[in-house]
Amino acid sequence: MSKKVGFIGLGTMGGPMATNLIKAGHDLTIYDINGEAVEAIASLGAKVAGSAREATEGVEVVICMLPASQHVVAAANGPDGFIAGLRSGTTVIDMSTIDPDTTRKVAEAVTAAGARMLDGPVSGGSAGAISATLTIMVGGDADLLEAQYDLLSAMGTNIIHCGSIGMGETVKLANNLVAAVAMVGVAEAFALGVAKGADPQVMFDVMSKSSGNCWPLETRCPVPGVVADSPASHGFAPGFMTDLMYKDLGLALAAGSEVKLPMTMAAVAREMYAAASRQGYGRLDFSAVAKLLEPGA
Ligand code: NAD
Repeated sequence: MSKKVGFIGLGTMGGPMATNLIKAGHDLTIYDINGEAVEAIASLGAKVAGSAREATEGVEVVICMLPASQHVVAAANGPDGFIAGLRSGTTVIDMSTIDPDTTRKVAEAVTAAGARMLDGPVSGGSAGAISATLTIMVGGDADLLEAQYDLLSAMGTNIIHCGSIGMGETVKLANNLVAAVAMVGVAEAFALGVAKGADPQVMFDVMSKSSGNCWPLETRCPVPGVVADSPASHGFAPGFMTDLMYKDLGLALAAGSEVKLPMTMAAVAREMYAAASRQGYGRLDFSAVAKLLEPGA
């Protein structure tokens, strides 16, 4: 059944996710502060709103796919924010990766406006967003997830209920911690092998069939030309940007510090992504962290 959906944030992820909702027959009203991103999706038949509030008025579900906590807070609040456009019975699904405490604060305001909220951050990158095969980690009430399963399954294939509101974000941060740390390990392994004369293609062929195999190796081998569709083979075009991984590690470390959890690997990896960003690789795929280990870098 077609639903009226407001979609806020049409970037690397939100653009293809909104496209898949349109393809599935839903009626979209879209908003982004970037006019070019809006035009691309409007050309597929979506209505264009002039604000987050306007994208929310008259729809059944509002979906956000924004970069970070501050963007979600900005899109939610104020006279033009989506909370001002909510009516009783509207559902908000925030699919951005943000701080779980911010999720819960936004959810309180959404509930106070008579609406309900799920968090649903995703994994699978831009390729998963395009092919509608994302893993979606959902926090919030099970009945609400069930009611919105049709929309979520138009964007992803693995839709997993992680617990109460904010718990999707917590699980997502844990997942990205693994990917971030493993990527640094893969980068060091290739830097070592290449420095000692190993053929990077042979390294990939061996490691991808051995105990070193992992998602960053398979999808993000950092040596150009080894894996044809890796970011490294395309000038490190994202993919998932270094600055977003830096943000996610910061969120994981902040969550860990609340419970005084030592998180040595996450902390070291975060410094590596900070250094990569300082070198100008912030908007490149996070596998560009390997560029820090190139001779003369
Ligand atoms: P992006 O920067 O490509 O897109 C974000 C969009 O939000 C942009 O078009 C921007 O103009 C818009 N925006 C910013 N502030 C806004 C506001 N106040 N109102 C309306 N629009 C606003 O980011 P992305 O790569 O699409 O990532 C979105 C979220 O998904 C992030 O939280 C990220 O961590 C997460 N994520 C990304 C990937 C990936 O591979 N890119 C994978 C998994 C999860």
